[in-house]
Formats: sequence, C-alpha cells, structure tokens
Amino acid sequence: MKPAVVNAWSRMVLIPAEEGPENYRWTSTVVLECTCPPMEIRLEKGQTRSPGEPSCHPGRSAPSGRVATAETATLDTIEVEHGGLENVRRPQDHGHQSPGPEPRPRSIPKVTSQFGKFGPDLPFVAARELHAVDLSLIGLRCTMAPETVLVADGLVHSFKVAPSEERPDVVNLRVFLEHPVSPAVGEKAGLPHLVTLEFSREPVRQVFRGKSVVIDPGHGGRDRGFRGPVNLLEKNVAMIVSKNLYSLLHLAGARPHLTRRDDVAIEDFHRLRAATCCSADCLIKIHASGEDDPDRRAYFVRYSPHLDCSRALALEIRNALLERMGIDPALVEWDEFGLLSTPVVQVEPVCLTHYADEANFRAPLFQKRLAQSIFNGLMRWYMKGGNRGR
Ligand SMILES: [Zn+2]
Repeated sequence: MKPAVVNAWSRMVLIPAEEGPENYRWTSTVVLECTCPPMEIRLEKGQTRSPGEPSCHPGRSAPSGRVATAETATLDTIEVEHGGLENVRRPQDHGHQSPGPEPRPRSIPKVTSQFGKFGPDLPFVAARELHAVDLSLIGLRCTMAPETVLVADGLVHSFKVAPSEERPDVVNLRVFLEHPVSPAVGEKAGLPHLVTLEFSREPVRQVFRGKSVVIDPGHGGRDRGFRGPVNLLEKNVAMIVSKNLYSLLHLAGARPHLTRRDDVAIEDFHRLRAATCCSADCLIKIHASGEDDPDRRAYFVRYSPHLDCSRALALEIRNALLERMGIDPALVEWDEFGLLSTPVVQVEPVCLTHYADEANFRAPLFQKRLAQSIFNGLMRWYMKGGNRGR
C-alpha cells in the first residue's frame, strides 16, 4: 500500500462573501495533504470532556474511571456532501469538491473519551472542556509522526494524525476545538490531494461581538522603555503586539480601541481614562520586561488587585501564553493602576534586554502568536463571565 498521508497543517482564512466585503466568512481550516485520494472519508464528531483535569502532560496515561456510557459512547457517524452533513465522498467521486455553504447547526453528541490517549498530549493544557471531531481516511497509510500539533487560534486548539490501531489502511485525524462546531469537509484533487476540514469561526465572533477592549501600547515618543541589545525598543514592541491584537479583536467583531496609534507620548492618566471613556470591559496594557543582567529573563502579567475579574483575566492570559508560547509569566498585583473600576492587566511577554527574546521578537510569526495568545486568554475570560459582577 503506497499511498500515505504526508502532511497536515492548519490556517485561518477570510473568505469574502458575494454580498460584499463586509460579509466575509472567517474560518479555521485543517488541511491534510495526501499522495492520492482516500477511498472513503468518515467524519465522526464527539465531545471530549476533561472534568477536573488540571493539565495534560506528555506520557501521562488516560485517567481511569472515565468510562463512557453506552448511550454517550456511540459516535455519530455522518457523511458529508457539498459541505452539508451528509456524505464526504463516494469511492467513485473524483472531482474537485468545494467546501460549499456553512454546515447546518447540529448538536455535537457528548462523548466521554480518553483525553490523554489520543488527545492534546502537550506540555501545558489549562483545565477546560474541549470538543473533538474525528475524521478517518480509509485506504491510506499514515507516514506522519503521530504527534499533537498545537494550533491555538481561538477555535482549533490542536490536532493529531495517527494510524488506526485496528487497521493499518486507516488514518485517523482528531481535531480538538474550543467551541463545538461542525466542519465542512472538502477535497481538492491534485498532487498532493487535499482533504480540508473547514470550521466556521462564528462561535469566536459570538464571544466577542460588541465587546469593548481598550489596548494601551506602552511608552511612545521620547519615552522608549527598555532597549534590546540590538536596539529594539519597547515602545515599538508594544505597538506591534497591540496592533496585532487590535486586528484579531476587530475580525472577531469586538470594539477594540488603541490609546495611541503613533509614536507619541501619552500621560498615564489619559491611558487609564481611555478605559472609562469607552466604557470598556477591560484595559490591556502591552509592555516588555527588562533586566539589569542581560542573561536573566522574567515575564509578568500585572493586574489591579481590588477587582477579582482583573486577576481572572491575568490568569487566563498567563495560561494562554504558557500554552501557546511556553512563556510562563509571573502574576503580580500592581497597585499603580489605581482604583479604576475597569479591570486592568499589563502584559509583559518579552524580556527585551535578553538577546534571544529580542531576536525571537523580530519574527512576524512570533509577534502574531503573542497577540493570538492574549486574544485566547481574553476569549476564555469572556466565556467565563468576563467583567460581569465586578
Ligand atoms: Zn514598559
């Protein structure tokens, strides 16, 4: 059996709609590159729960005692055609198939499955519920290393491609999602032959719709902040992360506001007041940290101590940075934010005086991932109630 799955990756896509550029579709798409078309594609959707699961570490076996009941263990096998939830692909169908319209909303059956066995065996996964979608490619042999690929784009958490334990000619893909959303499965003939799972990011928009977030890029003008060994300035680092975060929030339907868009100095008073003027849900201050010793590195997420929801936001952002970037910032109470009624969090995810951090930050992908991590933390904070009840 020669055919094999050779690669798999994920991307975020904006698809303009016919009604106009404002009505674009926003998707996360997982792509499998195959050396030839699979004989059959099966889509199974289940939900993975991690009740009380503190974290999931590599090599840790699946927790015992989580046995599915007969009812919930039955995976819902659905065949897909034209992007709907029917047939994926008949053996004789070889043409190009577009993903088609948005999948019909349908509840994903609840399944208690082995979280650790075929799940996100990643260094750090914060305790929360993820949702699983399974796809099987029949008639292919898997050559890809069976390791979990972290995506963390706010919808697709991670995915894993692995050969079936029972059948060598079956390749299993499991996608872990932050929200229960059904994929539209498509194929594109060619070499490689592409099998795509397109997930609508509408659930992410539902979390952020109308939410008001003030982003404050630190320093500006003559106030440069810390300076890296190769002259990268904190004020510019803060602006880059802030603008990336702004773009993500804007795409998600939130109402982001930047305290500065240009390289200008602003009084601290005006930065804090911006949060009140916009009646913001929160104020996110972006800075970099710095150390006297160039070999030392430390990261911080500071929060206003008099608001519980401020600490909760800091914790979610810290967890998201750890999960996505492996950066473990210290949570610090910070009185200098005053008694503002808006939760304030100051994120310092780069230690600019360290040569490696400065070099890392010059990569656009690194900059985007930092912003995505903060975005993910914000999303989870909103999903847990955000600033309600402050
Ligand atoms: Zn600073």
